[in-house]
Amino acid sequence: MSTETVKETDVSEVEFRAEIQQLLDILVHSLYTSQEIFLRELLSNASDALNRVKFEMLTNRDVLDEEAELGIWLDIDEEANMLTIRDTGIGMTQEEIVAGLGTIARSGAKEFLKAMEEAGQKGQGVTADVIGQFGVGFYSVFMAAQEVTVTSRSYRPDAEAVVWTSTGQGTYTVGPADKSERGTTIEIKLKE
Ligand code: ADP
Ligand code: MG
Repeated sequence: MSTETVKETDVSEVEFRAEIQQLLDILVHSLYTSQEIFLRELLSNASDALNRVKFEMLTNRDVLDEEAELGIWLDIDEEANMLTIRDTGIGMTQEEIVAGLGTIARSGAKEFLKAMEEAGQKGQGVTADVIGQFGVGFYSVFMAAQEVTVTSRSYRPDAEAVVWTSTGQGTYTVGPADKSERGTTIEIKLKE
């Protein structure tokens, strides 16, 4: 059996937890009016990741790509309707990507769900402005995306690269990736 085949069997499809799916359903079906909401969230995550690796390098001599330029790069492919955000921050292991992108990290997201529930009970709708007020974090990308692929490699030299992908509808897949440099790349296939 080739290594390629072994790698493919390591890819697993996982269901989002109920409260995350609830949040995603609202975001996926929300009227997408304010682009800056999801860009702000993703850039803030990339910036956090850069700060974290800078901090790590103060005390740890064993950081992958110690010499790499610290930065955030944005690439737009209009023809393919793709947006890519890459950083050379702290990166994520497979465990961290599942934990980080699999739970509602921010209190904002929880408050948002609570507010939505209350609005629903009163028969009021959801607007992108409301979503923007809460800072729902990474998941806000699904307001704009058909599909999102996150490829990451942790600063830990022995960690394997990981790829996470989802359309925001029910499940995500996660498995090993080919990425030699430290950091995170988020590829977004935008909605039409
Ligand atoms: P928050 O930023 O409030 O923690 P998010 O939903 O924005 O919530 O992100 C969830 C988690 O995913 C982050 O806490 C972080 O651990 C991880 N994460 C997201 N984007 C990145 C990135 N570019 N690099 C490293 N880790 C990231
Ligand atoms: Mg964030």
